[in-house]
Amino acid sequence: MTNRKVRVRFAPSPTGALHIGGVRTALYNYLFARQQGGDFILRIEDTDSNRFVPGAEAYIEEAFRWLGLPFDESPSVGGSYGPYRQSERRAVYKEYVDKLLCEGKAYLAFDTPEELEAKRAVVPNFQYDASTRMQMRNSLSLSQQQTRELLEAGTQYVVRILITPNQEVRVNDLIRGEVVVNSSVLDDKVLYKSADALPTYHLANIVDDHLMEISHVIRGEEWLPSAPLHVLLYRALGWEESMPAFAHLPLLLKPEGNGKLSKRDADRLGFPIFPLSWTDPKTGETSVGYRQAGYLPEALLNFLALLGWNPGNDQELMPMSELIAQFNLAHCSRSGAKFAYQKAVWFNHEYLLMMSDEAVARLFAPIVAEQGVTASFEKIKTVTGMMKNRINFVHELWETCSFFFVAPTTYDEKTVQKRWKAESPAQMTELMELLAGIDDFSIENQERIVMAWIADKGYHTGTIMNAFRLTLVGEGKGPHMFDISWVLGREETLARMQRAIDVLK
Ligand code: GLU
Repeated sequence: MTNRKVRVRFAPSPTGALHIGGVRTALYNYLFARQQGGDFILRIEDTDSNRFVPGAEAYIEEAFRWLGLPFDESPSVGGSYGPYRQSERRAVYKEYVDKLLCEGKAYLAFDTPEELEAKRAVVPNFQYDASTRMQMRNSLSLSQQQTRELLEAGTQYVVRILITPNQEVRVNDLIRGEVVVNSSVLDDKVLYKSADALPTYHLANIVDDHLMEISHVIRGEEWLPSAPLHVLLYRALGWEESMPAFAHLPLLLKPEGNGKLSKRDADRLGFPIFPLSWTDPKTGETSVGYRQAGYLPEALLNFLALLGWNPGNDQELMPMSELIAQFNLAHCSRSGAKFAYQKAVWFNHEYLLMMSDEAVARLFAPIVAEQGVTASFEKIKTVTGMMKNRINFVHELWETCSFFFVAPTTYDEKTVQKRWKAESPAQMTELMELLAGIDDFSIENQERIVMAWIADKGYHTGTIMNAFRLTLVGEGKGPHMFDISWVLGREETLARMQRAIDVLK
């Protein structure tokens, strides 16, 4: 359909935490909607009460708030196509179930789970379809009288779609092209269950996509096998003309490449699988999320955007505005995308570098405070700017630069053995006197004066600098020496030197 307003939906079932693959699906929907000036909708598909997990819906909304992918319509923001929770749309679905029954496009089936089980035991690869349905207990095999009696007796039933065998079903997929399936491979799927008076996923999904005027169904490849049935449902309901376009996204694969990415891979290799931390209400097991592991949402989204799509060149760093401008469903790949999680770490590093020192410092300041240290924001910002190129996550900053905030109380033994020479106490005492006399304690001025002194005395630069570093840092690491002494300031620098001389003498 042309000239149709783009409306896309992300339609998770609240059965637990959102898998990172679901985040990618939502992201592609979001990019497409924003680019096309369309609507991005959240619909909660909670018709399977057996799999409902309390807290999962709130988790999903919270995850998208953190990610910065706002919905235009959702259970919490509302919208004119609501309600957006399927469990609140019972009456809507019932109307279409009745319509399909009336028109003979669906039928009632009374088979109990035990009867179905017994059938499966005797018929290999049993499928409820044209070849078997007349052997089952349903409104097609029973007389009208028998059916009426069963209903009057309050017998539970399901409604099944009547699939006509040997028809060609065409699914037009924007990524995969045309997929043709013979309807004989499909079974008479259950559309509705009297037991809870709720439709199954298939019916609810199609009815809602139609009523919510969804233009494009962008979802994971695992739903491709359902697409022919969905096409037949649109046809049965008389909605084929306004059927949305399909786009089935490639699978996310294990980092090693073969097989579908699973939570087990994440646990085994040590990367998060959920956007936010999640405690499984059944097992009590907590999984750390991307947020809690220190990922920036922008970095995570950039990483995910390139798992299954690329801009047609090797550009990788693409902020949201650029992703929106360049995203193209036709450029999504058909083959699965390896979940190269180390790349997510690289993206995080790059996004930290792109952020201003001030913005990173704002994330770092609470960590400094947590360490019981009081430091001015100015100092935190300066240190952040000096050190952020060495880290992948903000929480790694403390480990990398705590010496800027806390004076060493012990001195690394190996460094002492290697760097603290017999002449070091005397040389450091001399250097202290020199530094005490410098009024302009800028990096450049210190460097100029100290270097001249070293040359004048004929000292070995390495010996001086290594010992100096040991006194200020307590070990052999850190940035340029005069950067450190400048940040610490003259008093603190001298105090640390004196302390080291006293302890190491
Ligand atoms: N409720 C389905 C899910 O959990 C929706 C699939 C679809 O997008 O059609 O992913």
